[in-house]
Amino acid sequence: MVQLSDIFAAQKTIAGHADNTPLIPSPFLSQKTGQQVLLKLEITQPMGAFKLRGAINAIMRLNDQAVGVTCCSTGNHGRAVAYAAQLRGLKAVVCMSSLVPKAKVEGVEQLGATVRVVGQSQDEAMAESDRLSREQGFVEISPFDDENVIAGQGTIGLELLRDRPDIRTLLVPLSGGGLAAGICVAAKAINPDITIIGISMDRGAAMAASIRAQRPVELDEVASLADSLGGGIGMNNKLSYPLCRDMLDQLVLVTEEEIYRAMQALYFEDRLVAEGASVVGVAALLSRKINIVGPTATIITGRNLDMDLFTNIITGNDVLLGEYHVKGQHYAR
Ligand SMILES: *Cc1c(COP(=O)(O)O)cnc(C)c1O
Repeated sequence: MVQLSDIFAAQKTIAGHADNTPLIPSPFLSQKTGQQVLLKLEITQPMGAFKLRGAINAIMRLNDQAVGVTCCSTGNHGRAVAYAAQLRGLKAVVCMSSLVPKAKVEGVEQLGATVRVVGQSQDEAMAESDRLSREQGFVEISPFDDENVIAGQGTIGLELLRDRPDIRTLLVPLSGGGLAAGICVAAKAINPDITIIGISMDRGAAMAASIRAQRPVELDEVASLADSLGGGIGMNNKLSYPLCRDMLDQLVLVTEEEIYRAMQALYFEDRLVAEGASVVGVAALLSRKINIVGPTATIITGRNLDMDLFTNIITGNDVLLGEYHVKGQHYAR
């Protein structure tokens, strides 16, 4: 299991590659909630998302015999793996489903990795990356169910509590749970009384459904504004599922409409460009699905989004997600 000491070790390994990111106050959210709300800006990482932490930690620890690396990804993990593989001079093959936005596919290719687009879901992409590792000896790096990845993401928890030891509540975007698991291990070791809430979109939230069912379950994957939160947790999940199940204090689900509004609010009020997955904590606060007491931080996890989609959202236009229609609305406080 991942321990606090692994996360301190990861902090040393990733230093100089992944950044210590800023923690800034949101006057708007603080005023809305009556509590101090802070934003941890992982959007300032070199490749625009926190996934660099875990990928660098995992790839720097490979021995020199590794021929190459492979992974499945909803976009940001693939980009991080491609980036880290390039640092080590390793070949990288990233498997993604056809649900992954074009901007994310191109981001991976620009870093010199090979992209395989396979199937309609993250689970199908995972099967392809499993096959590559079995048949061609590539080292497979899970986006969330890997102790080095979890330890890398956990460094966010160390930075948060170093900068603000008085934080009472953390709101963490939740998909496969590598981020939440790492943050839980770090933050709860430092302050056992801290409350950590996992937040997902209400359509296809596999971790939330698995925790409720008390075993990993599969859900149909559908298009979402929070595309980086799509995909399953793996039916043989060994680490991120038990850690999230045992350590998260609460789970909250937000709608596409709430995500849309939170993207607008973060842009107009805090002047930040953030992808849908990043703003689910903000969405939960604005929709009053969470009552907070004391200083609260949420992680703004990434900014890798399609700018045409973003322009449509801030303009208040309708957005079509597969069959699902998010009705446009101009931003208003
Ligand atoms: C991967 C990702 C998440 C979720 O992280 P998990 O470890 O899969 O729970 C959240 N936001 C962004 C931008 C991501 O890329």
